[in-house]
Amino acid sequence: MHGRTVSRRSERIQGAAPFRMMFGFRMHSGYAERRLEPGVIDFTFGDPHELQMPTYVDALREAALPRDELWFAYKQSEVAAQAAAAASLDRVVPLGWGADDVRMTTGGFGAITVAMKVLADPGEEVVYTLPPWFLYEPLALEAGLVPVKVPALQPSFDLDVDAIAAAITPRTRIVVVNTPNNPSGRIYPPDLLRRLADVLDEASARHGRRIWIVSDEPYNRIVFSRSEFHSPAEFYPHTLVCYSYGKTLLAPGQRLGYIAVPPAVADRAALLEAIEMMQIAAGWLFPNAVMQHATPRLEELSLDVARLEAKRDRLVGALGEIGYETTPPDGTFYLWPRSPIPDDEAFVEDLSRRGVLVMPGTLFETPGWFRICLTATAESIEAAIPHFRDAFEAARR
Ligand code: PLP
Repeated sequence: MHGRTVSRRSERIQGAAPFRMMFGFRMHSGYAERRLEPGVIDFTFGDPHELQMPTYVDALREAALPRDELWFAYKQSEVAAQAAAAASLDRVVPLGWGADDVRMTTGGFGAITVAMKVLADPGEEVVYTLPPWFLYEPLALEAGLVPVKVPALQPSFDLDVDAIAAAITPRTRIVVVNTPNNPSGRIYPPDLLRRLADVLDEASARHGRRIWIVSDEPYNRIVFSRSEFHSPAEFYPHTLVCYSYGKTLLAPGQRLGYIAVPPAVADRAALLEAIEMMQIAAGWLFPNAVMQHATPRLEELSLDVARLEAKRDRLVGALGEIGYETTPPDGTFYLWPRSPIPDDEAFVEDLSRRGVLVMPGTLFETPGWFRICLTATAESIEAAIPHFRDAFEAARR
């Protein structure tokens, strides 16, 4: 029998820039083996490095005890979970959200993929900024969409609103905005979001079709002192807010998130219905029953943002003293310093030989920079500082 086993769509996804590079990164730096070696300090992914807080475990344990015969039945969005999510979102983005504006999803992934598929048809374009969360491209390709990438301004890593305006075509349906931003840690200020809203209003009118924002904001509660978060939804009602609990609770393996439709938007009812049907058709993208039962209690919990901020301050200070160029992030758990040499991959390779694992900017299609994840312990950060110094000095020689 001849012919292909794997579909063209699968091949396109496998060929997506981040998958290609991620695979190359793993092969090249021996990441998968190195991360398990004793003494190696792993600053790559946003995974927990310490045991989960007992209050989180208690919430899941309580939610796992059935109170009625339907406790583990098929679940779409549970009203108690929606209500808790809406009340909490309203404290962060005060737009008067109600339970019915929220649909529970399998984390941010589920929310973003549903948003893309509900808003855009195959062949239409989705614009996002580089450096991106590297999974936008596979999610867009899987939905049949065409990714259009617009580099952020350097070194501020703010949105380049003029470049976004220039990238818009009659096929543009979605602009993805990620604030607080992974990997740069930037929170976009209100005036920038307002300018983006003006650009999108004007372009939507010009092309006779609404361009939507998909606001990917899983870090909207991981905001450091002296910074203030604003959602694009405050400035542009044609925005779907995508949220994941995986960051605030530092438990990304327990899939929980939501997609929220602003109360003021026209077509709200049609959108909510489309979202629900898409969640089913795309593979039952609802969180499992236990996670939904636990949501009201989980909404009361958070990782310790002050502790994270102390780690940020320690590492930003130390890197600055060594000579690295790095802007303190406004939020998230990432640092995004400039590589001391233009070849970020070579620099990351050298750090890896010294026992410190970070992600090269090339993986984010932004060479010359690298990402450090602050979910590592304060002790690991202390232990890594001399290695960051040695690698910097070696690079400068
Ligand atoms: N969006 C951004 C910017 C992220 O950094 C991540 C996770 O790293 C996600 C979405 C997906 O979150 P989750 O894995 O919790 O669905």
